[in-house]
Amino acid sequence: QRAGSHGVMKMTVIGCGYLGATHAACMAELGHDVLGVDVDATKIESLGAGTVPFFEPNLDDVLKRNIAAGRLRFTTDFAEAAQFGRVHFLGVGTPQQPTSGAADLTALRTAVRALVGQLRGEHLIVGKSTVPVGTSAELADEIAALARHASVELAWNPEFLREGFAVDDTLRPDRIVVGTDPGRPDSRAADKLAEVYRAILDEPTPYLTMDWATAELVKVSANAFLATKISFINAISEICEVAGGDVTALADAIGHDARIGRRFLNAGLGFGGGCLPKDIRAFAARAEELGVGSALSFLRQVDEVNMRRRTAAVAMVERACDGSVLGRNVAVLGAAFKPESDDVRDSPALAVAAQLALRGARVAVFDPKAMGNAARGFPTLRYAESAPAAARNADVVIVATEWAEFVHMSPDELSGIVARRLIVDARRCLDGDSWTAAGWDYRALGSTVDG
Ligand code: NAD
Repeated sequence: QRAGSHGVMKMTVIGCGYLGATHAACMAELGHDVLGVDVDATKIESLGAGTVPFFEPNLDDVLKRNIAAGRLRFTTDFAEAAQFGRVHFLGVGTPQQPTSGAADLTALRTAVRALVGQLRGEHLIVGKSTVPVGTSAELADEIAALARHASVELAWNPEFLREGFAVDDTLRPDRIVVGTDPGRPDSRAADKLAEVYRAILDEPTPYLTMDWATAELVKVSANAFLATKISFINAISEICEVAGGDVTALADAIGHDARIGRRFLNAGLGFGGGCLPKDIRAFAARAEELGVGSALSFLRQVDEVNMRRRTAAVAMVERACDGSVLGRNVAVLGAAFKPESDDVRDSPALAVAAQLALRGARVAVFDPKAMGNAARGFPTLRYAESAPAAARNADVVIVATEWAEFVHMSPDELSGIVARRLIVDARRCLDGDSWTAAGWDYRALGSTVDG
């Protein structure tokens, strides 16, 4: 999939977190000369030494291979970045503001200021971070004011990668979306970016060009849709809980309708992570700023349904423990917001673990990859070194992240270890019959199980 030597371009990727580090390594994999830039010196040192500072399947290989090939380097120096390439990707974080649902664009503005004043000649800046609609237009004004010695164009190229599949999603995306300045019909930005992605586009991959605002909206609309789909099935599961009904069988049945589709219809503990929760809040906040808040008021409910799953999981555990978890030993299996990731940002698993600890439970957490991040965020929880170690003497075991090693866990492995054979499947990912057959009290979040 590598570009021929004639297609090699020099580019920088500014912001080297989950998105940026993956993008930098994958652009080098395509054959380009890439310089990764971040303000976090520890991260840059680690990446430069060929070690991914987070868990992402296959990324380590791609990183090491391309560093060894001399196509990939990392720096904290923006002057070096300004000189190095003509194309600059922006992949810095756009977190939720602490006091509102809106997106915090400070890192984006800081990065742009650090770069643009130092540019000479012709450059293309390509935003990849998820931003509120209108951000490109605003940043472009700022760039024009800062670029005294350069001609700088801005394109927005939102990223759709999934953590856990980031490398594959970057090298084989479903589509590439590029937004350009609607006031510059002569813009060459989309052509230039098509050169960057030539090896991917040859596959072939849909290349969708549009104006800035549409591109910005594509990303947040996609995330709003996915979040809505998850909350939809979780809302239905609330009905199943009280009326009877198997939400999994229901999802299978409605999922056969091609207009609906089965994916993203798994009821359970809901969504978390560094994207969906903050993106729907930021989208709703932006709609309000634009005076059309009512258009997206349903996203508030999507958020509420989602957050309610965490409360429901805690309540289910309490009921299972005869009304109180005070002094009970609780094993929480899973800390990452989803499997195949070590990301614990807004993790439903840790939210449940923390709530149970607040109610007086003695909580032991195990996660195959996210222990370090979990311990940094929730230092007072106890961390066990394996699932059986977490389950030792447990009054209740909770499966909170559907890692394969939990899904395929044999009930017999835990039967002799726990104080009581009680399992709460908050992800509805276990084979309940096999747990019941092994003498366990099996309860799935979203089912009628008020024993
Ligand atoms: P992250 O927190 O892992 O990475 C952000 C990086 O930006 C950090 O390494 C941070 O040190 C760096 N940074 C902050 N300020 C900077 C500055 N002024 N100059 C240079 N670097 C700076 O976040 P992430 O998950 O990679 O997300 C980044 C963006 O990509 C967000 O807008 C997010 O919504 C979007 N996104 C993320 C994913 C995902 O799965 N993680 C998918 C699609 C889109």
